[in-house]
Amino acid sequence: MIRILTVVGARPQFVKAAVVSRALAATSMVEEIMVHTGQHFDANMSDVFFDEMKIPEPDHNLGIGGGTHGANTGRMLEQIEQLLFGEKPDMVLVFGDTDSTLAAALAAAKLMIPIGHVEAGLRSFNRAMPEEINRVLTDHISDLLFSPSDVSVGNLAREGIAADKVHCTGDVMFDAVEMFAPVAAQQSSILSDLGIRRGEYALCTIHRKENTDALDRLHSIFAGLADSGAQIILPLHPRTRNVLAANDIPVGANIRIIDPVGYLDMLALQEGARLVGTDSGGVQKEAFFLSVPCITFRDETEWVELVEIGANKLVGADREAIATSLAARLAPVSRQPLYGDGSASHIIAKTIVAHLR
Ligand code: UDP
Repeated sequence: MIRILTVVGARPQFVKAAVVSRALAATSMVEEIMVHTGQHFDANMSDVFFDEMKIPEPDHNLGIGGGTHGANTGRMLEQIEQLLFGEKPDMVLVFGDTDSTLAAALAAAKLMIPIGHVEAGLRSFNRAMPEEINRVLTDHISDLLFSPSDVSVGNLAREGIAADKVHCTGDVMFDAVEMFAPVAAQQSSILSDLGIRRGEYALCTIHRKENTDALDRLHSIFAGLADSGAQIILPLHPRTRNVLAANDIPVGANIRIIDPVGYLDMLALQEGARLVGTDSGGVQKEAFFLSVPCITFRDETEWVELVEIGANKLVGADREAIATSLAARLAPVSRQPLYGDGSASHIIAKTIVAHLR
């Protein structure tokens, strides 16, 4: 059996790992060791994903969270190295762009253990984002780079990464939506629980540091949401909730803040929305997969294709642009095969097996 040590730690990584783990298991040739760094630890930011998406229980839970980037990354690096000494995997598999991604990749690289990086080649070209640093560094020490789009493949080529390491697989988050949207449609009762109706509300999420750590931006975004007068449902990330509470930022009466929801409820909320507004990477794509128009509270995005085809509009923290876009009735988005055909996770699993066999 091939031993793959998968490292996850944050919400978007649980979604991605869910489909890749299934695909690895389906090869019948892989034994997966699941490591949870503990970056996200609340029940509604972590456990619910393992339960709903049937992700294998972590074999190791490091319980590292709540510190600064440097402290977290350092502690993870130290503990993951220890695990690698004991587990001796054939490959370390990492996802996306968090501190857990970089720490695991660094630990593996120093021990000459091959690294697979899912969601390679994404770039915002904004080095002020901690995620951008994590992505660039992880890509440059990875052995198998799984890219979700043609644009991400091009980014890696421009940075001089050898083409034979790069595999354009499509996006595993598309696989996840294909697999779980029908389950959400059957099982989620979130719209009736909240007493809201399909097509009548906008669904928003806000958690990127560039917004939560810049109070002028956060003020302006919340002012834009309020000015729109639109019915807004806002499942709020704990970081944003803390910043709102600590800084007296006014929240309009049209904005309904709820706790973060599980993946199935989130899919149901997105699918029923007339518009999605977000600064999340994953949510920008999920809106597109579900044919819902999206506005993004950022000045740039890694998912440039969606802006080019008009499925996504960058509104930054511009109060007026946010208010106008949220109030407008935007047409549904047509589906296009920008991110593969829903089999990215199987392509990844097969590529890993072929590489290590
Ligand atoms: N998500 C969720 N519940 C929420 C908010 C987000 O299940 O209350 C899901 C969302 O559907 C997507 C993932 O979390 O699959 C995105 O994670 P996040 O926005 O935290 O990170 P990013 O994609 O920006 O890295």
